[in-house]
Amino acid sequence: MNIHEYQAKAILRKFGVAVPRGRVAYTTVEAEEVAQELGGPAWVVKAQIHAGGRGKGGGVKLCTTVQEVVDAAKAMIGMNLVTHQTGADGKEVKRVYIEDGCEIARELYLGVLLDRANSRLAVIGSAEGGMDIEEVVGTAPEKILRATIDPATGLLPHHARNLAFGLGLNGKQALDAVKFIGGVYDAFTATDANLVEINPMVVTRSNELLALDAKMNFDDNALFRHPELAELRDENEEDPREREARRYDLSYIKLDGNIGCMVNGAGLAMATMDIIKLYGGKPANFLDVGGGATGERVTKAFKIILSDPDVEGVLVNIFGGIMRCDVIAEGIVAAAREVSVRVPLVVRLEGTNVDLGKNILAKSGLSLVTADHLADAAKKVVKAVMVGL
Ligand code: GDP
Ligand code: MN
Repeated sequence: MNIHEYQAKAILRKFGVAVPRGRVAYTTVEAEEVAQELGGPAWVVKAQIHAGGRGKGGGVKLCTTVQEVVDAAKAMIGMNLVTHQTGADGKEVKRVYIEDGCEIARELYLGVLLDRANSRLAVIGSAEGGMDIEEVVGTAPEKILRATIDPATGLLPHHARNLAFGLGLNGKQALDAVKFIGGVYDAFTATDANLVEINPMVVTRSNELLALDAKMNFDDNALFRHPELAELRDENEEDPREREARRYDLSYIKLDGNIGCMVNGAGLAMATMDIIKLYGGKPANFLDVGGGATGERVTKAFKIILSDPDVEGVLVNIFGGIMRCDVIAEGIVAAAREVSVRVPLVVRLEGTNVDLGKNILAKSGLSLVTADHLADAAKKVVKAVMVGL
């Protein structure tokens, strides 16, 4: 789960990370109040959407009068902000964050993430802050500093000092950085985060180290331990299909391809997406209906897949173990009765009650293509979306 910048900053502040003073506003009237309260002499108005690159898209505005703050808030609230991370449709801005403006001397990058290859947390630093870190990784990997943290010891002062010196921070700045990095690390572990990213972390002209931007992402499977974080969820920012899927306990993730996938088991779902790609197609989603799915959930899953306008073909790939093929077949038939299936449908069933399942599908009168094995199914669905059926 992602949260907004201002929410991430409030969490970081609790862990001793230096962030500018600020408050969120939903209206221009509130924006004016906040501007008065902060008092200036400079403010920054920032569109709150779950996407980066706001600066370039007109979602970050430096202001020097209260009137400018009000004007910036007026322009941003309700605007459709398009950045390289929102996609072409953009995202509607419903709230803005107003904070003290500062004079920047240097923009740095600091992040904590889960390094899956090493099964460790990694603290990443770069002197190339403010820009897209993926780009730095791609073009100048030598500019990325990394500390890999042993979970038995956690972050130690020398990790933070090495990073600070590597970023060119000395004296007071290095001392501040050690506290800053420690706070970011503590915030990460205490909240069961997947990612904390401060881009940029700045050194101001008055020699302060501040988090100017903040992004936090949390492990959904640990949210039950943090009800206060779960409340920060902003459903406006989420894909409506993912939201609907969550209500039915379905693991659904929207992707940018055109082949809808309904699979049982996360591993099989991953393998299905891989093989679709192998045969030249692109999956429109990840979906694991789960081991013990009921007919109702299968129906729901099928509807969610079909409600995606990008979907031009569907591959159902079920290996019936705990999940019985006849339940899946009934779910597909029930869903197809409620929503018209306007795209080719390829079904591969195997395992428990496979004959019963195939029988239900055959008798349903649904127009579908059956496949004998995974490769056959993938080839058929890729062909179907390319040429139409
Ligand atoms: P993003 O574009 O969505 O990543 O938004 P950021 O919060 O990172 O802001 C983008 C850029 O705006 C930063 O890299 C800074 O260069 C600039 N910026 C943000 N806050 C301030 C500020 O208080 N003073 C100045 N001078 N620039 C700022
Ligand atoms: Mn940023």
